[in-house]
Amino acid sequence: MAMRKSLLVGGLMQLAAVAAFLVMACGCETLPAPPINILSTQQEVQLGRELADEIEKQKPIHGDAELQEYVRGIGRRLARVAPRRDVEYRFTVIDEPDTVNAFALPGGHMYLYTGLMRLAENEAELAGVMAHEIGHVAARHHGERLTRMYGYNLLVRVLLGDDPGAAANIASNLVEMNFSRENEREADAIAVELLWRAGYDPGAMLTFMEKMREQEQRRGAAPSLPFLSSHPPTQERIALIRQHLARYPADERAQRSAYTAEYREQVLNRLP
Ligand SMILES: [Zn+2]
Repeated sequence: MAMRKSLLVGGLMQLAAVAAFLVMACGCETLPAPPINILSTQQEVQLGRELADEIEKQKPIHGDAELQEYVRGIGRRLARVAPRRDVEYRFTVIDEPDTVNAFALPGGHMYLYTGLMRLAENEAELAGVMAHEIGHVAARHHGERLTRMYGYNLLVRVLLGDDPGAAANIASNLVEMNFSRENEREADAIAVELLWRAGYDPGAMLTFMEKMREQEQRRGAAPSLPFLSSHPPTQERIALIRQHLARYPADERAQRSAYTAEYREQVLNRLP
């Protein structure tokens, strides 16, 4: 009981930390009502582990250990300044050069596709996508969304290992899962602040979104761009990101490195 209580208090403190972080990130006075989230951190982490096992059976994980380590290093840099620290954020690269996507599982397992990584021009742009995925986990969007989609009882069966079929099914749906628009805006707001705190120029979010918009226009509303099709309209995201950026000093932003040469060497030169 005592442990359960301390977990609950811990969870509430984490929520307060995300709220405080968001006040800084959006400069907004009023915050949305606390999300419905009946998965504890422990449950979220365990569910995430089960789903990650499924994803890694279903998807081609990139075999280049140095590439994986480079991406994990960026993840650690962002995680150190994340508003939620009771989960381990761990990024893995999926080798699908035609898929422009990234997604997060509950509990901090996150995946980036090589198709999306090829579109980024520098480390800061990739970090922006990673920070957005961290934003979903930090704001506990999964507990709310998964409970609505599948019901608490099914999630508990998956947690107990009683329903391997359901775990496989949830994992494959999560790859292109839709969060609410409100969740997406919140993840973008967290991402901008996270980039800033980690020492990147948060303007990289904007340059990457503009590249995505170009791709979108070139390909049409293509299913190969799930990172866009499952999110609010790109134009709207760009406008909101621009508003967030106005809060950061332009001269200091301009001095920050985007790590373009490192990105070319560690990522672009390694991808076909
Ligand atoms: Zn998102």
